[in-house]
Amino acid sequence: MNFDQNTLVMIAIVVVIVATVVKTLLDVYRRPKEPVTVVKTLLKCTKCDYIQEVDYQQGDFIGLLKGKCPKCSSTLKVRGIYAIELKK
Ligand SMILES: [Zn+2]
Repeated sequence: MNFDQNTLVMIAIVVVIVATVVKTLLDVYRRPKEPVTVVKTLLKCTKCDYIQEVDYQQGDFIGLLKGKCPKCSSTLKVRGIYAIELKK
């Protein structure tokens, strides 16, 4: 009986070691890559339907008047600020 118990203990130790190694390998391979995000500002003309997406600049906020419409020379207004994910 003692022999059997020792064998079981040995098997248990081997299983734990193998499980630990497998888990470590899976963690390395499964670790999600950090998504790269960029923040965009959506500009919309106050007069026509012109829409432009530009890189977010510090100080941008919804409702901010920013730039001029290339179509009708009217003012562009910030209508949205959002982050988009870039796929590698
Ligand atoms: Zn316009």
